[in-house]
Amino acid sequence: MRETLAGPRVLLRRLREVMADPIGAQERLDKIVRLIASNMVAEVCSVYILRADGSLELFATEGLLASAVHRATLRVGRGLVGLIAAEARPLNLPDAQSHPAFAYLPETGEEIYHSFLGVPVLRAGRTLGVLVVQNRSHRSYTEEEVEALQTTAMVLAEMFAAGEIEDLATPGADLDLNRPFRLEGAVFADGIALGHVLLHEPRVVVTQLIAEDVDHELARLEDAMRSLRLSVDDLLARGVEAGQGEHRDILEAYRMFAQDQGWVRRLREAVEAGLTAEAAVEKVQSDMRARLSRSTDPYLRDRLHDLDDLANRLLRTLMGRPHGPAGTLMPSDAVIVARNMGAAELLDYDREKLRGLVLEDGAPTSHVAIVARALGIATVGQVDNAVGLAESGDPIIVDGETGEVHLRPPGDIELAYVDKVRFRARRQEQFRRLREKPSATKDGTDITLMINAGLMMDLPHLTESGAAGIGLFRTELQFMIASSFPRLGEQEAFYREVLEGADGKPVTFRSLDVGGDKVLPYIRTHPEENPALGWRAIRLGLDRPALLKTQIRALLKAASGRTLRLMFPMVTEISEFERARQWVRNEQEHLTRHGHATADKVELGAMLEVPSLLWQLDELLETVDFLSIGSNDLFQFLMASDRGSTRLAGRFDALSPAFLRPLRKVATKARKAQKPVAVCGEIAGRPLEAMALLAIGYRSLSMSPSAIGPIKAMILDLDLDRLSQRLNAMLDGAVSASEVRTELRAWANAERIPV
Ligand code: PEP
Ligand code: MG
Repeated sequence: MRETLAGPRVLLRRLREVMADPIGAQERLDKIVRLIASNMVAEVCSVYILRADGSLELFATEGLLASAVHRATLRVGRGLVGLIAAEARPLNLPDAQSHPAFAYLPETGEEIYHSFLGVPVLRAGRTLGVLVVQNRSHRSYTEEEVEALQTTAMVLAEMFAAGEIEDLATPGADLDLNRPFRLEGAVFADGIALGHVLLHEPRVVVTQLIAEDVDHELARLEDAMRSLRLSVDDLLARGVEAGQGEHRDILEAYRMFAQDQGWVRRLREAVEAGLTAEAAVEKVQSDMRARLSRSTDPYLRDRLHDLDDLANRLLRTLMGRPHGPAGTLMPSDAVIVARNMGAAELLDYDREKLRGLVLEDGAPTSHVAIVARALGIATVGQVDNAVGLAESGDPIIVDGETGEVHLRPPGDIELAYVDKVRFRARRQEQFRRLREKPSATKDGTDITLMINAGLMMDLPHLTESGAAGIGLFRTELQFMIASSFPRLGEQEAFYREVLEGADGKPVTFRSLDVGGDKVLPYIRTHPEENPALGWRAIRLGLDRPALLKTQIRALLKAASGRTLRLMFPMVTEISEFERARQWVRNEQEHLTRHGHATADKVELGAMLEVPSLLWQLDELLETVDFLSIGSNDLFQFLMASDRGSTRLAGRFDALSPAFLRPLRKVATKARKAQKPVAVCGEIAGRPLEAMALLAIGYRSLSMSPSAIGPIKAMILDLDLDRLSQRLNAMLDGAVSASEVRTELRAWANAERIPV
């Protein structure tokens, strides 16, 4: 064993003994400050802890007046201690009193001390308190002493987080550690969830902080770094990551950090100062988080996310925990908190226990948001630092109406939400009563409302909502939750069950739409620069005949004695549709020839979601039996605006004339050609947008089941003819997206239309 840096290491060893002592929290704190003071030959050592009201309370001291403990307080940002808390950075001053931030606290008697060293107590980048040493003489504390004090602060952070000190604070004062947070984000899925946090990537809790053998810990760190580098290289080589949304550039950033000498050096130094390898990772990451999280530069903040992920991977490797979602210890009212996740990962959770979802990133038309809506889980996205602030098990409320998230909510907020849930239940009841009413506008135009679905659990929504059918059945969801490729028989049984569940109402199946962000774990794809524009949907289907033909055969058999409605996603050229149609015909002939029952009638449609089709409408409408507008993709391609991008979400408006004009053209041409056309993207389920769609000529909308009630309520109060005239006149002239939105909103208000 090496004996360098003996001083700090002796301190850490003694600290370990104090932490293991079966004594009360106050006594432990008192012992710790005494231990630090004697080890660092300091006359003063004090611990201040942050309270929810933004003040720092003196919790223990060696050297200052004992009577000041739990009495003296400082405001964050005021005095040296307040400055450390505000900036989450150490301060090392030979002459504290000459520092402009110095504040004199008469009750502590500290004026006789000159030199001052203070470090923040940090956990996951959050400041929980401040640890200080002071000396009478003018001295500069060495780098090693700063390190040792920071390490001690880490030990304190674990002690605070373990809830040991909660009862010590001055009566009436709450600790910041347990402070409620009200966070804001963007609504991804409607609903209210009251539940408990489950971190998607559970924070690895490091319990063994202090090393027994430095050389051994250094070797462990080296090993873990090596396997981390290999695993990142491997991910890059494979080009895929089990989780979604982690694309090549992120992996490149990982690789950069994994090779970064600065990072590696800081890790090594922390181990040399006496920490275990995992404690070193946590310490270096916590310092980095505290520094970078104050940055307003979005690029740096993204890099912080990457570093967090990398540090987490390293911790998991060191502690022998596999990488991946929490899974097992799921509370019965779980609210998943994650940076981001793919649709398949959400489907991995037990639906019965899932109440809500909070994401730091994402966009409302991303597939995880669509699946969350399909599952009826209240979801709020783009919530800054949700993962850093939440701990698994914390009470949480997700408000999928306003985009608020309440972490550790106080009692009055919780009561208000219990009321809100009751109110929503009453409103749902009103919507349910609308169920039996014909879906027609006030001036008598019939509108067909359908639901989007993809799993068996969606089927009951068909009856509950009173929808006319399933306008989009996303068949890939079944493939995404399967661990291996569903075989012909399994597919057939599933589709039959869907048709039976629909009880005679029409179901429009969509052939497999995988690729892009919909990854099937058992299909190897090659890395692509732009997966959304890449080898996906019908492109992949036509290149993998076994895959698409099997699905077609399963659908034909499942629909025996009924009509099969099937559409193909991402059609770009009419010839693609024609090839797929030929395959359907061939399969049908094959089945008939071999004496199998098959669908009585087959209707084949194309999804219109690639802009190229807008310039092939006449031929397209002659070829297809029906069209369905995938507005999520059509919008992203038309606006060149990634539907999953957090930064672009909300930047361009679906009510833009640039979008509404081509949509209007499609509706007009389809009517002339007498071919049915529906909209099945997310805009169909948003009342104001749906109002615009009706006004430009659509009569059939397909949406998530929970949107049926609100959309029907809008329709029943809508004077469609008048609105059509108004909106079409606007679109014929020069108009901006915001003018269209303002006009529609004003119209709805004036006509008392609920939107
Ligand atoms: C769409 O693109 O609008 C659509 C309905 O398909 P998905 O959201 O599944 O891509
Ligand atoms: Mg699409």
